[in-house]
Amino acid sequence: MSVVYLDNNATTAVAPEVLDAMLPFMSERYGNSSSMHTFGGSVAHDLKRAREQTAQLLGAAPEEIIFTSCGTESDNTAIRSALELNPDKRHIVTSRVEHPAVRVLCRWYGEHGYRVTEVGVDSEGMLDLAEVQAAITPDTAIVSIMTANNETGVISPIERIAEMCKSRNILFHTDAVQAVGKVPLDMQHSAIDMLSLSGHKLHAPKGVGVLYVRKGTRFAPAIIGGHQEHGRRGGTENVASIVALGKACELAHDAMEVERTRVKALRDKLEQDILSKVPNTRRNGHCEMRLPNTSNVSFEFVEGEAILLYLDREGICASSGSACTSGSLQPSHVLSAMGVPMAFKQGAIRFSLSRYTTETEIDTTIDVVLRIIERLRAISPFGPGKKMAAFSNLRVPS
Ligand code: PLP
Repeated sequence: MSVVYLDNNATTAVAPEVLDAMLPFMSERYGNSSSMHTFGGSVAHDLKRAREQTAQLLGAAPEEIIFTSCGTESDNTAIRSALELNPDKRHIVTSRVEHPAVRVLCRWYGEHGYRVTEVGVDSEGMLDLAEVQAAITPDTAIVSIMTANNETGVISPIERIAEMCKSRNILFHTDAVQAVGKVPLDMQHSAIDMLSLSGHKLHAPKGVGVLYVRKGTRFAPAIIGGHQEHGRRGGTENVASIVALGKACELAHDAMEVERTRVKALRDKLEQDILSKVPNTRRNGHCEMRLPNTSNVSFEFVEGEAILLYLDREGICASSGSACTSGSLQPSHVLSAMGVPMAFKQGAIRFSLSRYTTETEIDTTIDVVLRIIERLRAISPFGPGKKMAAFSNLRVPS
């Protein structure tokens, strides 16, 4: 059975060009870039090129790029660095909708002597800038707010928050794992101090990420060892994956304008068809301020897990929340923060497209979703006019 993959916010397919670029470094070009001989040393040129390709996508300088193992490491490193270098400051500002890579770490600090303010969002998932402003105090060591949300795709006004932080001389970090490669970012004209990205969200393999650190920003490495990454992240470089990420960044840079428009049109078709043809549905997240590839829709009176199961049977991959938190039946903290009513929260499905998504796949998905929801609603004891009927069948044991 062919697969319709609409779970690209969980992970993406490695692009064929990316695979071609990395393969030589997993076979004949296995040298260590730190070696004195030409065989190893020549790899340094490939690392340099990957750094330049990555920097170009971000509008950054190559020396501002630190290669890491993943988005989680980048997020952790940024926040830990800020706290280590500002031992007198004991306050962190973040949001209620962050990925666990930031949220769980900040909460851990909250249990270990720090004060953490989680700024809320409105019903469309948008942050309130005034609330961020009010949360910042002279005791704040870092503000960490994601660029785009993994569940809803909602984009935060990070440039305005970065400016706000800069004017008060406070470090600003953003988790841009979902945004990089999907929407333009330009560090040259930005006040962001640190930014995280992850290879496997933009058609590079898993196990490689980047922490961007603005030139002049004080930085404490999380991994101390060799001189790699100019002493900012010890450990022999994961050359194949770094080369792959460089290539993926180059492809994203070149395709972004065209793909943004194409993918958004497909996303909108999927979303509008579902919302207009299936009763008792809603979109979760701001209509405009959103990644072009993400649609989070809720089906009232149906369990998200049941929808996913039926979709899976038809070869369609989607998600009922963040993949990293699936396996727990906790309702999404993002939808909870947005105040999505329970009956809708439980029936939320995230579709996330990529540059490989086709119109035929979207048409198939629309047909399948309509069919599945009709079937599930028919067997559900809940629904408009059904609640009472379901309860009237209950027999109290005598
Ligand atoms: N931040 C966001 C917004 C994410 O969506 C993810 C992964 O889903 C991460 C961080 C973690 O990235 P990684 O899987 O590379 O550790």
